[in-house]
Formats: sequence, structure tokens, C-alpha cells
Amino acid sequence: SIVVTGATGNLGRHVIEGLLEKVPADQITAVARSEEKAADYAARGVKIAIADYSAPETFDNVFSAGDKVLLISGSEIGNDRVGQHKAVLEAAKAAGVALLAYTSAPGSLTAALADDHRGTEAAILESGVTYTLLRNGWYHENYTESLGQVLEHGAVVQAAGEGRVSSASRADYAAAAVAVLTGEGHENKTYELGGDTAWSFAEYAAEVAKQSGKEIAYSPVSVEVFTGILTGVGLPEPVAATIAGVDVSVEKGELVVTSGDLSRLTGRPTTPIADSIAAALKG
Ligand code: NDP
Repeated sequence: SIVVTGATGNLGRHVIEGLLEKVPADQITAVARSEEKAADYAARGVKIAIADYSAPETFDNVFSAGDKVLLISGSEIGNDRVGQHKAVLEAAKAAGVALLAYTSAPGSLTAALADDHRGTEAAILESGVTYTLLRNGWYHENYTESLGQVLEHGAVVQAAGEGRVSSASRADYAAAAVAVLTGEGHENKTYELGGDTAWSFAEYAAEVAKQSGKEIAYSPVSVEVFTGILTGVGLPEPVAATIAGVDVSVEKGELVVTSGDLSRLTGRPTTPIADSIAAALKG
């Protein structure tokens, strides 16, 4: 069967929906931390496994020989994500899965946030398991989910200078994962996934202004100031610094992906950022 970890997260929900369109529900296993959060899947006939990346033994009976697995990277920054992912990897390997796909970060990304992904990729390669690396670029939603603050302040505040981002919607990345899990020929491949069109924060601000009818400007700040803004809204300092550090990479062009892998895998153009802005404005 097809086994998806992180199935009750934002990306995982898109993946399970996409899989349900292509394969019978009883061939899909959703791995979740909470039975309750996965109840809607169970109601639709999807198999549920309860496991936590931080408790390796909970993965003992999750995988079977021949499974295709999507390991969705964890979200607990600073909580030994490499160790967490290794626990899943080892269980998958021991079971003899046919394929382990992993949601990674762009190969060009040098920001500290990429360290856990590089560490996980190394462990996957070392394990000898048949893999697919889905090096996901940035989500549109990383930005559109804070449109409320942008509208409130009339400003897009980032520390990315004139840097550009080729983001795509979570649904686009999920569709790529579904293509890999249900298709052929993806063994031991590394895909650099990103949106078809890269945009700058000045362009992003202009598009939000156009769609909202409000005056919105891009206000570039230093990485120190940006870190301070993020701690000001409640993020722990190390997490704030890690997130702000991504903007340094954006300024250097490290989140521009030109491979075309995403639209090639999904067979359709990626979602324009303007569409995600429109969806977020509709709320
Ligand atoms: P979410 O935060 O919505 O989902 C994270 C998922 O990981 C959830 O299902 C969560 O479980 C699960 N998870 C976290 N920690 C554990 C654990 N210890 N054991 C088991 N499951 C765990 O993120 P998204 O779905 O939006 O994105 C998926 C991943 O992609 C993120 O976790 C992160 O690694 C990465 N990411 C990528 C971004 C990008 O722009 N490319 C932006 C942000 C994140 P539960 O549902 O129980 O909480």
C-alpha cells in the first residue's frame, strides 16, 4: 500500500485527497499522531496508523514489504528532526518498503533551515533504501497565510532585498508527491521542485495592492530587524533566527528553482502566486 506520514498536516491533507482520486482508500495508510485528527480519513476507508517520529517503537508495525512511503518532514524545528526522520527510515528499511519518498528542501538552499533536510537526505542515501527526494521549494502559503498582517500594516516586511522566490502552492507539491507514489520510474531520483514563475517581494506587494485595493508597499529590513519582529510576535529566538535566515538565502537567489520538475511531474503549470493571494483574500 501507499503510506503517508504527517498525513494530518497541511501538505499531508492535500496528498491524501490526491491519492483518494487515484487509488482505492483501503490501499492508503495515513500515519498520524492523533486518532481524532485522522477520524475523517478513517470514515472514508483510509487505514490509520498512530505513530510519533520521536518514539521509534511506534513505527514497528507501520510499514510492510513493498509499500511506497511518503515521509513528510516533521515540523518541530530544533527537536532533532534528523533523528526523528531516521527512526522512520529505519522502520521502513527493516520492513523492506519498495520506495521511500522524502519532502526535502532545494539543493541550492544554504540557510540553517536546510540542515535537517541535508542530514536526512544523507541518512536516506546511506541506508541503501530505494528513494525519491522531493526537494520542495517554498509554499505560496508561507506568505499568503500572513496576508492579514500585511493588510493591517500596509506593508510586506521581509529581509530579502530584491531577491526572488519561485514558490508554488502546497497543492502543487502534493500533486508531485502523488505522481511519484502512484507512477513509475521515480526510483533513486532527486527532483528540484518550484513554481514556474519567480517573484520579488516588491511584485508580491504590488499584486496584493492590486487585488485588495489598498496601498501596500514592500519594506525591506535587515535580518536582525526581521528576527526581532518574529520574536515580537511570539516565536522563540532560535526559530525566529532560522526563519529570518531563509531571507538571506532568498536575497542570494537560493529559492529560485529553474528545473521545471514540478510542472513536469504534475503535468500542469504551477499555481500562480496571484491565485493564492486571491484565495487568501477571500478567506
Ligand atoms: P504542517 O505543520 O501542517 O504539518 C506537519 C506534519 O508533520 C503534521 O502532520 C504533523 O503531525 C507531523 N509531525 C510533526 N512532528 C511529528 C512527530 N514528532 N511525529 C509524527 N508526526 C509529526 O506542515 P505542512 O504540511 O505545511 O508541511 C509539511 C512539512 O514541510 C513541514 O513539516 C516542514 O517540514 C516542511 N515545510 C516546508 C515549507 C516549504 O515552504 N517548503 C514550509 C513549512 C514547512 P500533526 O498533524 O499531528 O501535528
